[in-house]
Amino acid sequence: MRALPATIEPFQGETVCSVYHRLVERNDLTTGELWTAIRRQNPGLPLRTTPGLVPRIVEDLAGLPRGRLDQDADTHRLFVRCEHTLWQHSSCPACAPLPAPVTMCRRCTGGENVEARARTGGVCARHRRWHYAGHDDDLGDETRYGQAERCLTGPLWQRGIGLDTGELELATELLTLHRQHVGAVEGRGDAAERLRALYPEAVCLTAFLTEPWATRFLAHTHIGQLPVVALIEATVVAVSAHSRSDLNNISETFQATGREASVRITRTVRYGQPVPIGSLGTLVRESTPRLRAVFLRHNDARRPPGTRSSPW
Ligand SMILES: [Zn+2]
Ligand SMILES: [Zn+2]
Repeated sequence: MRALPATIEPFQGETVCSVYHRLVERNDLTTGELWTAIRRQNPGLPLRTTPGLVPRIVEDLAGLPRGRLDQDADTHRLFVRCEHTLWQHSSCPACAPLPAPVTMCRRCTGGENVEARARTGGVCARHRRWHYAGHDDDLGDETRYGQAERCLTGPLWQRGIGLDTGELELATELLTLHRQHVGAVEGRGDAAERLRALYPEAVCLTAFLTEPWATRFLAHTHIGQLPVVALIEATVVAVSAHSRSDLNNISETFQATGREASVRITRTVRYGQPVPIGSLGTLVRESTPRLRAVFLRHNDARRPPGTRSSPW
């Protein structure tokens, strides 16, 4: 199709839907009007406005070369373990998925509403803004948010963990439960607001529980529910107290080597003996299989998905 009178330049990782909506706005159209025009030339398309189905047409309308909207994909993929890299984590173009779309910082986009699937968390370090789920809030001088962002887009990304892969959501849930239990007021509101409030702690908790030693411990088939709950509870308490020395103690205490798993709390407790747990542990004990599965998810190996390409 021919380019519209007003064209646009996409941002890094910008989604097809985001480009479509900006095109509509810039050309004083409605989303329905433009979709009707597209369907007139491509009658096989559904009635509902679904620009994500027609990336090549959206590129034509925006005056972009074909394939431009896929061009950034490889730099933004979440890492996976797959056979192409001998089961090491990598951003394999055949297997690694793109992250879920995030709304971009509006100062970076010159005030426009832009959604991108990019290697980013919820923080714009340049403008010190929180930009997740449509928010655009000032973070002031909070250096912890910048540190958390670097951790998420660095080591966590390389483990295959992004904002929406589930680990941060679970970490936020555990931290919120702990805070409610000790009577702290933070952690109210919906999931997005809780993540905003607890982002530095949630990233720290996730990073700690997905380190290689923790992954070995959580994946160990000889370790039952109680030591797992004890590890998670101790980590939530240490992260909430911002205690680096407590975290160091935990990583020395919970170790799994070979067929043997040992947990030292006040004394060495071997597999099969009861492990003391506290109030948070008692609360989440029933959910241990889910906790274990979510914090181990990044370690799952991936088979290449079937290749799909859009005819439009
Ligand atoms: Zn692969
Ligand atoms: Zn920004």
